[in-house]
Amino acid sequence: MPRLGMGTWHMGERAAERAAEVGALRLGLDLGMNLIDTAEMYGEGGAEKIVGEAIEGRRDQVFVVSKFYPHHASRRKLASACEGSLTRLGIDTLDLYLLHWRGSVPLAEIVEGLEALVKAGKIRSWGVSNFDLKDMQELSRSPGGKRVTANQVLYNLARRGTEFDLLPWCASHGVALMAYSPLDEGRLVRHRTVMAVARRLAVEPAQVALAWVLRDPRITAIPKASRPDHVRANRAAADLALDEAALKALEHAFPAPKRKQPLDTL
Ligand code: NAP
Repeated sequence: MPRLGMGTWHMGERAAERAAEVGALRLGLDLGMNLIDTAEMYGEGGAEKIVGEAIEGRRDQVFVVSKFYPHHASRRKLASACEGSLTRLGIDTLDLYLLHWRGSVPLAEIVEGLEALVKAGKIRSWGVSNFDLKDMQELSRSPGGKRVTANQVLYNLARRGTEFDLLPWCASHGVALMAYSPLDEGRLVRHRTVMAVARRLAVEPAQVALAWVLRDPRITAIPKASRPDHVRANRAAADLALDEAALKALEHAFPAPKRKQPLDTL
């Protein structure tokens, strides 16, 4: 899975923004950010349509991730939810399909439905989102559950709880960790310490926040940006190695967790 991708939450919600959103995703692809994360929930299908437009004619260059609602997770509903996403995206196969968050459908039934989609060639792999350690352990014990490939969770400088237990568990079980809201929904670019580090390194604050997430090779980051200058800055983060002084200042402002914290979600 690529390490730096693009998010799409809040895209496809306003017709007036459509061209800018498609343009931002195309620019990101041009710059080599070759993973796009979306969901049937975003703009109630609107974001998937934006992605479809952005990747038209360049399907081979992009790793496409989408997510299904927990209330579409039953064996009966999952196949049509997936078909709906594929149609809106204008593609035949998803690279990764995630359960958006845990609902009431038993995990074994969800895994069965997902494996059927793999067999039918509709998805290449599947995973989960917003699963804490206990959920991952339970999934791993259910039939077929070990085939989970990714867990997408809230992770950034201000939300480091997963480092204590979930991240090491995922790493040791071959499950990729996808960090959503890596800029804490944009708040980190206005944080005093992040701004000070950025000033000293002569880069954008967003680059500091993203480079910090990317410092760990086990993590994929999916920042969302609709503005071209934001897309360019985010891409540049992949080439920024934070020095010792920067890491120390950030560690001081955002200390690592010392005990278990329940998984943060949005
Ligand atoms: P985010 O990526 O942390 O932040 C997005 C905000 O930061 C937007 O307002 C964006 O503005 C701004 N921004 C982006 N790049 C910037 C830059 N270089 N400088 C200054 N500001 C910048 O938040 P997010 O959208 O919540 O998370 C990213 C993606 O993760 C989502 O889009 C979605 O795909 C996924 N996600 C998944 C879940 C889940 O439950 N699985 C939950 C939340 C998010 P502009 O748009 O104006 O450029």
